[in-house]
Amino acid sequence: MFRRRVGVLEGGTAVSGPVAALELDGVSREYREGVRALDAVSLRVPAGRFVAVMGRSGSGKSTLLQCAAGLDRPTSGTVRIGGTDLSGLDEAALTRVRRDQVGFVFQALNLVPSLSVLENAGLPLLLAGAGPDDSWGERALRALAAVGLADRADDAPARLSGGQQQRVALARALVTEPAVVFADEPTGALDPVTAADVLALLRAAVEERGRTVVMVTHDPAAAAWADEAVFLHEGRLAGRTESPDAQHVRDVLRDLALRSRS
Ligand code: ADP
Ligand code: MG
Repeated sequence: MFRRRVGVLEGGTAVSGPVAALELDGVSREYREGVRALDAVSLRVPAGRFVAVMGRSGSGKSTLLQCAAGLDRPTSGTVRIGGTDLSGLDEAALTRVRRDQVGFVFQALNLVPSLSVLENAGLPLLLAGAGPDDSWGERALRALAAVGLADRADDAPARLSGGQQQRVALARALVTEPAVVFADEPTGALDPVTAADVLALLRAAVEERGRTVVMVTHDPAAAAWADEAVFLHEGRLAGRTESPDAQHVRDVLRDLALRSRS
């Protein structure tokens, strides 16, 4: 598999290079005064890279993803998507960045039951104001074809299996051709074989379409599909591994678990 070594932020010092798809610099998030769900996390993700964010429950993974995707604002630090500093944006501008540059896949799929599979896949285009003359349907169909579901376009989501529904959610995340796709436990509810289908599609989005993927997962086997695993521990970046294999990821997670008990 094609993998590249890249410059990263180490100890808060930026390695120079082209504009990163995603860049976090000293990002902290306090939900309550003095309690940091995220603590000064710096992370640089070049375009065309697949990153797995790992860590125990409560380590700050979802918080990291939500701050990185512009769904939540950090208490301090900066997030840049394609070089744009999100902290400088008002709500309208932030909404445009989310709409045009970001795709999301969640474990809870949030498919709309009253819409067809095609309409669900095209929802970001419809919400952005695509009209009847617009080519949203063609774009949605292409996105469905990319996940192998073009023949289910007219079905209701409820008629699809869990894995197929997750692929519709993936088509919806990719339909706007976003710079960065964020996925929070996208395979958490799937059996291993179905999960592998979804992971292969995320991998293909990176390899074939040049997308950047940031995926939160508990699952070492899922992380092994990524170019890099980053580990969170109590809100801090606790390590990163290039070309992670599942056994190595398991070992790191076990070490981190021991660390919190000692
Ligand atoms: P993970 O996704 O790794 O399980 P989270 O990012 O969801 O972790 O949570 C990190 C920490 O922040 C946890 O201690 C959690 O209880 C706390 N937390 C998360 N969301 C909120 C919230 N909306 N309000 C208060 N505390 C929160
Ligand atoms: Mg979470």
